Amino acid sequence: MLIGGEWVSAHSSQTFDVFDPGTEEVIAKVARGEIADVDDAVASARQAFDSRAWLRLAPAERSRIIWRIADLIEQNADAFAELESRNQGMPIASAKGGVATVARVFRYYAGWADKIGGRSMELMSGGRDYHAYTLREPIGVAALIVPWNFPLLMAAWKIAPALAAGCTCILKPAEETPLTALWLGKLCMDAGVPAGVVNVLTGLGHEAGAGLTGHDDVDKVAFTGSTEVGKQIIHAAAGNLKKLTLELGGKSPVVILDDADIEAAIPAAANAIFSNAGQVCTAGSRLLVHRRHFDQVVEGVSGIAANLKIGYGLEPGTQMGPLVSAKQRERVMGYIDSGVREGAAVRVGGTTPDTGYYIAPTVMTDLRPDMLAVQEEIFGPVVAAMPYEDIDEIAARANDTPYGLAASVWTKDVQKAHRVARAIKAGRVGINVHGLSDVAMPTGGYKQSGWGRELGPEGLEAFLETKSVFAAL
Ligand code: NAD
Repeated sequence: MLIGGEWVSAHSSQTFDVFDPGTEEVIAKVARGEIADVDDAVASARQAFDSRAWLRLAPAERSRIIWRIADLIEQNADAFAELESRNQGMPIASAKGGVATVARVFRYYAGWADKIGGRSMELMSGGRDYHAYTLREPIGVAALIVPWNFPLLMAAWKIAPALAAGCTCILKPAEETPLTALWLGKLCMDAGVPAGVVNVLTGLGHEAGAGLTGHDDVDKVAFTGSTEVGKQIIHAAAGNLKKLTLELGGKSPVVILDDADIEAAIPAAANAIFSNAGQVCTAGSRLLVHRRHFDQVVEGVSGIAANLKIGYGLEPGTQMGPLVSAKQRERVMGYIDSGVREGAAVRVGGTTPDTGYYIAPTVMTDLRPDMLAVQEEIFGPVVAAMPYEDIDEIAARANDTPYGLAASVWTKDVQKAHRVARAIKAGRVGINVHGLSDVAMPTGGYKQSGWGRELGPEGLEAFLETKSVFAAL
């Protein structure tokens, strides 16, 4: 682990195994941080914050250092992508695209580091003049808890704005995928981030993760993961009222209207759910298709599913890799089985081989809105396809889950597109595109998909406090 600029083992000397999900082999043993290690990591981040080790650098210098992190990531892009693919299972081409995006995230927030400022007001009260202004100050010590679906990218979404805002942080990668996070910690140091400003604490969720969220010296938690753990974090954070941003689960609809370009919508709908083996918070896991096109779309998406090249992430040409872990494979198979028990049909997929955590891309039909496979986040390559009759049904159908992370609507009619975009309760809506994100645009959830926003200026705001200062003249 990286604590206070040093590479350390856990106090207990314990480790946990890290797997290659394509082969089920152990590829690393990583320090199992527990409460004593949490205390060290938080103390290191606190000391770095209170001593202003980071803040006393000129904003332009902080900007240069964050930019340099992006340069170092690019210089190591191929090796980063290979490690990410090996540890997470994603196809190497996706991993390479991901690393390029990570560099862009650091550059975007490098640009913000020297542009943070307040505003001023001329006031008058009781016949006296006042000069008032706001100061934007970093919240303090931030715990950044990230999942395993895009390990490096999720870390970048949090570290880059935290650094730009002037916070110090403890990154807690998922136990399944700690390897690129550790390397990112090293590159932060190499780029000139002072010791203790970025710490990387490896460990299990209920130990290292819970230790951070309950720690009184942590001021802010930025979390991406399951809604269930998000709710636990809200309770854990209550002790000292930590500021929270929570990016949680989704059950995002892909809505295909009767006038859509069906030839374009079919591959996009397939990509929306099979990309990264469906382990995407904004995955298009519910496919709502106008009755007129339902059979054609189901056949088209099933045909793509049946022909996807599934295999080891590092194998050139692989289009879909394994799921991240045995636990995730069991969870996803459990949802498929529950759907079948409740009367759903598996049109294609639903199978898993003996070695590697693979699941064949799966299309389910004959579903009722109340089935678990329709209501809950499966986080695997499983799409629930359902027909609808009338555009007036769409808002109710699309919004009929506890989630509200993303959606897309497919149509050639401009007015219908914007009407549906307004009617859907989700933090991100695509018109003739699904799941597009950009560092310049905020992302986050309505309803039980989370609190707050990441990316864009909003993502920076989430690491800042506002102070109003009144000066009597
Ligand atoms: P999780 O929510 O348990 O884990 C995400 C992160 O939270 C990991 O770093 C983990 O160590 C940490 N964590 C776990 N318990 C914690 C606790 N009590 N306190 C603090 N941190 C804790 O996710 P999972 O069990 O790996 O996956 C379960 C389901 O979560 C998936 O099937 C999927 O539905 C959902 N998920 C969503 C996302 C997303 O991007 N929204 C990402 C991963 C998983």
